[in-house]
Parts: sequence; C-alpha cells; structure tokens
Amino acid sequence: MSTQEPERTLSECYSALVPFRLVLRRSARRRTLSMRISRERRLIAVSAPESAAESEILAWVDRHHAWLEKHAIADGNSDRSVPLMGEFRPGGIFLFFGEEYRLTVTAGRRKLDSSLHGFAEGGRMLVPDVRGVASLRRAVFAIYAREARCYLGERTAEWARTGNFVYRSVAVNSAAHRWGSCNSRGEIRYSLRLMGCDADLIDYVIVHELSHTVELNHSPAFYRVVEQVLPNHKMLRDRMKKYR
Ligand SMILES: [Zn+2]
Repeated sequence: MSTQEPERTLSECYSALVPFRLVLRRSARRRTLSMRISRERRLIAVSAPESAAESEILAWVDRHHAWLEKHAIADGNSDRSVPLMGEFRPGGIFLFFGEEYRLTVTAGRRKLDSSLHGFAEGGRMLVPDVRGVASLRRAVFAIYAREARCYLGERTAEWARTGNFVYRSVAVNSAAHRWGSCNSRGEIRYSLRLMGCDADLIDYVIVHELSHTVELNHSPAFYRVVEQVLPNHKMLRDRMKKYR
C-alpha cells in the first residue's frame, strides 16, 4: 500500500482495572526500561529505548505487576473485593462468566485433556493431577486461555459487525493488570482473566478495545464511539471495578 504505516502508539486500558493511564516515552539514548507512577495525575509513565518492541514493553510491565499493585492498585481501590482467581490448590475458587468454580484435580490424569478438563457442572473446574502452585497455575491458565481464545475471538467478530469496526487480530495473554489493549494496527489483546467477569462486562471490554480502532486514546471522542454501541457503558465500567 502507498499509505504510510501509522505511527505505533501504545494505547493501554489500565483504566479498566487500574484507574491509571499508561504513557510510553521512547528515547534513543535509553538502554533499559523504567516505570514511574504519578498518583496525582493518575499516570504510569514507562520509559523505553527507541528499539524496544511494543510487545516486549507490555510483557515487561506485566512482570512488574507486584510493584504496580503496591503503588497503584492498593491506592484507593479497597472496594475491589472480588478476586477472579483464588488460590492455586484444590478447593481454590475461580470465577468464570461471574460464576464460582472450585479447583478440582482429576486423579490419575496428569496431562491436560481438552475433552476432560475445564469448567464442568457442579461448579467444578477440572484440572490435571499435577502438584505445586506453579504447575496448577499453568494448567488453570491453559484452561482459561482456551476458553478466552474461542469466546473472545467470536464475540469480537460479532461486536465488530454490530458497530462497524475493522480490526486485524485477536490474541490472548495472561496480563494481570489490564483487561485488554489495542494498537494502531488494530491488533487486539485480551487478558485470559477477563473470562472470569460477567458476560456483559466482557462485552464492555470488547467494545472498548474495538472503539480504539477508531480513537486510539481515552478522550471524550473515544467514549462517544463506545456510547454509540453500548449506551450503558458507564454503568458497566463501574461494575467492572469490583473485580481484581
Ligand atoms: Zn482503552
């Protein structure tokens, strides 16, 4: 195509989960990544080398979620009382479409089997017979990721048809502190954790990300786009705040 590639801008949606805006600053002289929080301006400023890939930067931010939690989320978010994911042990409570499921190990089945493992009747999340928090977390994330890729992929296509949005792709990651993101190329990413929320809240995040294909920011113009598709978006956004 003859048109110039649009400048790649990081448009993160920390505001959904963390009421902070993420701003990226690039510098040719910089060699490493760093992050600074301004509580007054509700801002997370990430400084990055010119050459760092956007995916690399996002992965780095995610790896520092403990730091973000301490400095940003703990601040003024004490009403966020519903954890989407409980403890990674048998009996741990996990949400799926807003419903509670209890982590249940299938005895003797050590390999993840898509026909056997997953969210089952009786409020059970069936996982392989593996030991240790790290192994159980991997298994649980694999189950959520499978559901997320399927559901969010289809649902994004549906909402794109409804709102006449054009996007390029949908991918799923395990980001802990943002529900989704969209870049100027129309590449949408969702956190697999989103599958824990109520269905209408998942729709809100999908419409939010799709609206970034029109407005790559959180300006009033952006929210007008969201509002055209979801007139009750403000109420949904408020309800979303209860999850962490
Ligand atoms: Zn956003």
